[in-house]
Amino acid sequence: MKLSKSIFNLILLVSVLSTIFITIIFMLFQFNNFEKESKYIRNEFLNAKKDLLKKEISYVYNYIEYQEKIKKNLIQQRLKNRVNQAYNIAKNIYDKNVSKVSKEELQYLIVSALKEISYENNRQYFFINSNDGRAILFNKKSFLDTQKNIWDFRDLKGNYIVQKQSEIALEKNEGFIRNYFIKPDLKDDKQYPKLSFVKNFEEFNWHIGMGEYLDDFLFESKQEILKYIASIRFGNDGYIFVNRIDKKALVFDGTKLDKPKDYPNSELFEKQLQAVKNKNGDFIFYHFKKLNSEKKYPKLAFVKTYENWNWIIGTGIYIDEIETQIEQRSHELKQNIISQLSIIAVILICTIIFVYFISKNLTLRLTHNLNTLTHSFNESSKNLSIINIEKLTFKEFKKLAYSLNQVLFARNETEKKLKNYIDIVNNYVITSSTDENGIITEVSKAFCDISGFSNEELIGNNHNIVRHPDMPKKIYENLWNTIKNGQVWKGELKNLKKDGSYYWVDIVIEPILQNNEIIGYTAIRQDITNKKIVEYLSITDELTKLYNRRYFNIKIEEELNRVKRDNLLLSFIILDIDYFKNYNDTYGHLLGDKALKDVSEVLINMTNRSSDFAFRLGGEEFGLILINQDKKNVFEYAQKIRQSIEELHIEHKTSKISNNLTASIGIVTRNGNDIKDSNEIYRLADEALYISKRNGRNQVNEL
Ligand code: GH3
Ligand code: MG
Ligand code: MG
Repeated sequence: MKLSKSIFNLILLVSVLSTIFITIIFMLFQFNNFEKESKYIRNEFLNAKKDLLKKEISYVYNYIEYQEKIKKNLIQQRLKNRVNQAYNIAKNIYDKNVSKVSKEELQYLIVSALKEISYENNRQYFFINSNDGRAILFNKKSFLDTQKNIWDFRDLKGNYIVQKQSEIALEKNEGFIRNYFIKPDLKDDKQYPKLSFVKNFEEFNWHIGMGEYLDDFLFESKQEILKYIASIRFGNDGYIFVNRIDKKALVFDGTKLDKPKDYPNSELFEKQLQAVKNKNGDFIFYHFKKLNSEKKYPKLAFVKTYENWNWIIGTGIYIDEIETQIEQRSHELKQNIISQLSIIAVILICTIIFVYFISKNLTLRLTHNLNTLTHSFNESSKNLSIINIEKLTFKEFKKLAYSLNQVLFARNETEKKLKNYIDIVNNYVITSSTDENGIITEVSKAFCDISGFSNEELIGNNHNIVRHPDMPKKIYENLWNTIKNGQVWKGELKNLKKDGSYYWVDIVIEPILQNNEIIGYTAIRQDITNKKIVEYLSITDELTKLYNRRYFNIKIEEELNRVKRDNLLLSFIILDIDYFKNYNDTYGHLLGDKALKDVSEVLINMTNRSSDFAFRLGGEEFGLILINQDKKNVFEYAQKIRQSIEELHIEHKTSKISNNLTASIGIVTRNGNDIKDSNEIYRLADEALYISKRNGRNQVNEL
């Protein structure tokens, strides 16, 4: 994968992931907030509702309390007024009649007057007791005649009613007393709470009083209060309920019941009882149907007792509202989140587009930089130039290019030198390479120059294209044997030029090895043509083109050494033209020279073997060196030469022995080890020649 693409993908991935990550964090944050908010809303809502409920109950409670107080005052005032009225009547009767009638009659008058007065359906009446516990008047009946002793009369709760009344009358003159008493008209033996007011009537040591059954009185008041309570409404579904602690419902479902009825839900009622153990009231949670509905909803209620009347007053509120509110809030939040998500999506898309272009640009620049760098590097490698740093835009790449330039610079310098050397080698060193079969694969310019062949003419051709026919086969056999054995061959070769001329090279041929296998050969040559010419000139007689005397002096020593070393035969032949002075004199020097050349031609033709050498030893005197030829052969050979010269038929009129040019020959043939030195050889041959001269010339003699 390309670096730029990886970077591009990475940037894209990081930006997408980070946006998603931020979104998730944002969502979590939102939900967490929502949870907190919901909790807060719920708490706030409940607290507000609790306050409201408490306030409502407090209001009702105060209302009842206030109403009870008013009614109590009313009843007390009424009792007090009525008893005072009775007292005044009694006092009036007493005062008017005290002097006229007897005590008994007075008492009778008073009792009779008060006996008939009654209120509230005869339930209220005056009573008179003596302060020492005797009944005088009770329930419109006079007890004057019996004077019944009721001193120890007690009510349901064990209160001594008469004793208490007497005590108040005697000590305070008047006062209220609470007790329980039967309702004589009902005849049910049940005692009812009763409030009485008594006033002392000291004239007879009596107390006059009147009582009012509280329940009778409060019944009406309570009905009014309950009616009012039942009418209270607040909020959407708020109403007050009232139960008695004996499980009787008084106001139920916001309606005042005509008669108290059994509370229908024992479990709920038990809850209420538990809650009202707290005198300040408490909250309860339950499910209850709404007004005008049968479906039950979660409800929170506050209940409190009104102890005086054993009432449980309570009010509740349906808290499904809060769920609705929270649901609404959640809906809002959802909407919020959706809209925020849309914004985020837009931002995400924008970011991705932005990042796409940024990273695209970045990767393009990166690619451009990389391409420029690699291209420049490649170019620089080819052209031996350096990378153009200005073309790069990234600092890092510039640094890299700078470092590469350092390397390139050093390398280029070496390369230039190397190229220089290669050029020099190419121009001046005659090199060539072949495959293992000798087919040319590479040649230097110098090779082309010297051989006259073009590069194209050489490559693909066998190397023997430059092989000169003068070069003995043996040399090439030896050459190939050596290099095929993996060894280096060194030697001097005469090569053929394209135009047919030649050149001499000093050559080194090395096999090219790969995995110990010869895959070709490389040859390095040195042009030694001039050296060869100089060498040739220095050893060649200019006129006859035979080897000269100087070369003879060298060669005879070499050959002598060789035959000595190898124990071979060495033959030396001396040839002298007969009466040549006469010839010169007769035909002139030019023809003399021509004759010398013709004789030399014979000698050249007769020395084909590589071990035969012919020399011009001086003037008209020639020498031949033959190796390892037996005497007989040498003799015959010499005769052949002599005969060949004679058969040239060069006219020689002034020769004393023939009409044609002739030559005398002396031979010496010895085993190398039998020869002392070159002088001895020369002397012996010369002696043999002398014999030939002396014996008539044109003949061969040997020693
Ligand atoms: P002989 O038969 O005893 O050998 O007699 P000769 O005349 O051949 O021997 P001599 O040594 O007296 O003479 C040699 C002559 O060879 C002398 C000279 O004129 C001739 N000569 C030597 N060098 C050259 C040369 O380079 N060119 C020509 N044309 N003649 C030469
Ligand atoms: Mg001579
Ligand atoms: Mg001579």
